[in-house]
Parts: sequence; C-alpha cells; structure tokens
Amino acid sequence: MIPYLDLKAQYHSIKSEIDAAVSSVLESGQFVLGPEVGAFEEEFAAYCHASFAVGVNTGTSALHLALLAAGVGPGDEVITVPATFVATVAAIGYTGAKAVLVDVDPKTHTMDPSKAGQAITKSTKAIIPVHLYGQPADMDPILEIAKKKNIIVIEDAAQAHGAEYKGRRVGSIGDMGCFSFYPGKNLGAAGEGGAVTTKNSSFAKTIRTLRDWGAEKRYHHDLKGFNYRLEAMQGAVLRVKLRHLEKWTQARRSLAALYDEILRGSKVETPSVAPQIKHVYHIYAIQVDSRERFSEELAAKGIQTNIHYPIPVHLQKAYADLGYKSGDFPVAETLARKTLSLPLYPELAKAQVEEVAEAVRGIAGK
Ligand SMILES: *Cc1c(COP(=O)(O)O)cnc(C)c1O
Repeated sequence: MIPYLDLKAQYHSIKSEIDAAVSSVLESGQFVLGPEVGAFEEEFAAYCHASFAVGVNTGTSALHLALLAAGVGPGDEVITVPATFVATVAAIGYTGAKAVLVDVDPKTHTMDPSKAGQAITKSTKAIIPVHLYGQPADMDPILEIAKKKNIIVIEDAAQAHGAEYKGRRVGSIGDMGCFSFYPGKNLGAAGEGGAVTTKNSSFAKTIRTLRDWGAEKRYHHDLKGFNYRLEAMQGAVLRVKLRHLEKWTQARRSLAALYDEILRGSKVETPSVAPQIKHVYHIYAIQVDSRERFSEELAAKGIQTNIHYPIPVHLQKAYADLGYKSGDFPVAETLARKTLSLPLYPELAKAQVEEVAEAVRGIAGK
C-alpha cells in the first residue's frame, strides 16, 4: 500500500527530539503562548525573511486577523480566487466584508493578475493571492496594481512554507503572509496552528493583541479580540520541525522532479511551474480527463490519491450567497474537474514514486 500521506513516518524520523520538546513543555507548566511560542515566532520570521511572525491557533485565524489588521470590515471587498481551500473565502466573510472572486491562470492555477486588476472597485480593501499547492502566485503584477490603489496584499501561504518568488520568500512579499501548521501541511504541528508574518510592526502589534482578547495588558481590552492563541506544545514541536524543513522541502522537490520525469510525454498534465519560482510541492497534482478511472485504478493497485478540490468555492452550497454560478470561472472549474493529487511527502521512497508514476502512465496509455 502506498498511502497519500504518512505523518507517523515523519514523527518516527525525529521522535527523540519531539518527545524531549513535548516533555519540556509538560514540565514547564506553561501551556499557552510563552517562551516556546516566542522563540518559534522569531525563528519562523527569520525563515520567511520577514521581520515579525505572530503565532495563532489556525491558518484560518491568521487570515482573519490579517484582514482585521488591514482594516477590512463590513462594506469592504476582498479579492481572492475560487481555486482554494474554503478557509480563504470563509475568513473574508468573518470580517463582514464581501469576497470577490477572480479566475486563476490556466497553467499555474494561481490568481490571474489581470483578472484581479479588473475586479478592483472603490470598495476593494485587500487582495489575497493563494500560493496553491506550494507554488507562489505571480506577485509582482498584483503588488503593482495594489500599490497604485492603496490596497493591502495578504498572501495565503498556508500551503507554501519556504516557497520563493524571484528570490523572495513567501510571507515576506505582500504586506502580510498567512500560514497554517495543520498536521498535513509542509510544516505541521501536533495539532492546530497558524501564523501571520509581516515586515510591518504596526500590523504585527495589532495581530498580537487581537489573538489574545485585544488586550496588551491583561484584562485591559483595547480592541475586541479573540482567543486565537497558539499553544506552547505546538510552538515547541514547530521549533523542532522547522530545523528539518529545508531538508524535507528538498526531498519533496526531488520526488516531484522524479514524477515529472517519468510522466513526461504521457497524456497526463504535470504541474506547470512558472520561471523564477521555487515550488515547495505541498501537493503534487496532475490533470487528467477521466479522474474517477485514474483514482479507482490506482486504488486497486493500493495507491491512495486525493482531490484538491472537487468543488471550487463559488459552487459550494455555503457560498451561494456570493452570487456566482457555474461557468463564471472556467479555469477553476476545469481544475476542479481534472485535478488529482498523487502521494507526496518527504519520507516517501523514490521507488514508491516510480511505482505510482508508472501506474499513472499505464492508465493514461489505455
Ligand atoms: C489549510 C489552508 C488554510 C487554513 O488553515 P487551517 O490551519 O486549516 O485553518 C487556508 N488556506 C489554504 C490555502 C489552506 O490550504
């Protein structure tokens, strides 16, 4: 059996380090925020080439607080894409603002900057490009349009820890970057976690205050805040894992290159990486016409696959109130119909990738 993901393999590869970190938190009696979270924030900010990182309880909370720090609220519009995990759009809704969706580029499946430009109105307060599957969106044209109109750019980097665009790390390119440390993400906690990165001290300060009930001084609530605090245990685990992240990213990239190589020349469409991009392959997604057949035949060979995502956000029942319909975003809709995610994680063996890729080639040949 080749699983889609194997989180136990990663734990076992660094078990003694993780166990020591967890036990030191248990001994410390400090379970929420505290020195482990503070140290992780400094280390993660440095890793992202940002000045500040503020740890929060989830990636969704990171997006919510980044939007609030940007001043987004009822009556405002925020531009993002339908080809994303639902959290991106949900977080916009939490602020009372309206999500305005624009289609993605047919090759990279990240925000089409010209479409974003066309969607700007007087009410546009922020743009959230999503670094889908670990590939940074085309940031320069987005930043350029945003700068002209005084719009804040928030990167949804939940799938893209360590990815680079023209030599710049995600999380340091826009005004703020939002990360998730959900267990299956490239940097995953032993539970939930998230962070906002920024070079702007005032955004950092607002987010730091909002995550802990809007109080800089305990019981003195200057802002209407939230309980979005990161747990000490997660900070400690993330600090250990951050030390291994570059090595794991390298492993993902070389396994992805092996998939590319074996699938080249087949009928299967492999990920298309824009120039001057460092893709970190949170997900290795291929595009196929008869996806059900592929996933069923692979499953019959003991190979697990996944779909990210079967329904684009604008066609989800819960978001019918955004007022979109089928056909509005043809590229995102085609992606949702054809995308199939193959197993990829740092501990996966080369021989397993070869087995999966050969099986995919075999099915494509029929
Ligand atoms: C995972 C994810 C999120 C949400 O992160 P959580 O930690 O699960 O709240 C947001 N956006 C994208 C693109 C994601 O993949």
